[in-house]
Amino acid sequence: MLPSSRHWLRIPKTYKAAVYDKPGQISIKLEELPTPEPGPGEVLVRITHSGVCHSDLSVMRSGWTGLPPCPVGQIGGHEGVGIVQKLGPDCEATSVKLGDRVGIKWAAAFCGKCAACKAGFDGHCETKKFSGFFTPGTFAEYTLAPANYVTPIPANLSSTLAAPMLCAGLTSYSALLKSGTSSGDFVVVSGAGGGLGHLAIQIGARGMGYRMIGIDDASKRSLVLECGAEHFLNMRDFNDTTLAEEIMKLTGGQGAKAVIVCAGSNRAYAQALPMLGFGGTMVCVGIPEGEQVPISNATPGALFAMQKRIVGSSVGSQKEAIEVLNLASMGIVKTVCREEKMDALQGVFEEMSKGAAIGRVVLDLS
Ligand SMILES: [Zn+2]
Ligand SMILES: [Zn+2]
Repeated sequence: MLPSSRHWLRIPKTYKAAVYDKPGQISIKLEELPTPEPGPGEVLVRITHSGVCHSDLSVMRSGWTGLPPCPVGQIGGHEGVGIVQKLGPDCEATSVKLGDRVGIKWAAAFCGKCAACKAGFDGHCETKKFSGFFTPGTFAEYTLAPANYVTPIPANLSSTLAAPMLCAGLTSYSALLKSGTSSGDFVVVSGAGGGLGHLAIQIGARGMGYRMIGIDDASKRSLVLECGAEHFLNMRDFNDTTLAEEIMKLTGGQGAKAVIVCAGSNRAYAQALPMLGFGGTMVCVGIPEGEQVPISNATPGALFAMQKRIVGSSVGSQKEAIEVLNLASMGIVKTVCREEKMDALQGVFEEMSKGAAIGRVVLDLS
């Protein structure tokens, strides 16, 4: 059957979704829900793949202090790739067509008018609509998305490899852009073997020409070196003082130009500042769960004498998402991942909560 102007294929009346039925705990329930109709400016996307991010686990467990608890029945997920299946009214002004392969990110929508949007930070739009947190996410066969904010997926990139770029890849890339570094500079990544860290190492080493140093547990050594790190440090071989001393040694006494803290650990934050050389930047990315504590040694004196900076970075803009997907389509960054079906999600989260997951899990929802 040829596609009509507004939809193609048969769209089922209901679709399968994985919902958080007991927020606060790791508990997933598969439900059949009525397929929604796209409203003005919206498209219905048949999701074929969704990455599983550590933030999904934090949202489900209501692990982030300062944010409202997750609602019962929330559909999680914010690294979705799928096919535009139906256009709502008023989508003509956008470039999205039926059958397009598109991505859905943590920032579910943008307004184009707020201070963040005007500054090019549409991923931080004040509308605060987040996929998988109060807005239905991508652990489902279908979802709605604004036609003007879905991300085009390069034709030669598989959906499995595209999905993790929409949060993990975007977050890693944006953090490196905010690090104030130039090619040839030393950049340290703590948590270098994790979902974000191993992408930051690849993008930094192969996409941006940085000299990357990875810090993580000994079990991640070969992964981090294969990703392009020049050096790997096993965090258990050092205390906080000797770790910074080792970085000074590896960088010929100058210190790192940037430290990207991907590990969601207060200790990793406390270790980062002494590793920086003159004018160095610490980029805060990983979010420690539980009570938020200040970065322990960030005294004014520790910053001004050496002109150090501390910056925060989370997700990124639509422009950055398109750029990092292009890096992936060129083979510069490739996520270590494995595929699972939707009914395996409970086990995947349990594995993640024990820190046992190696690389990213991508759900195959097709
Ligand atoms: Zn994420
Ligand atoms: Zn906005």
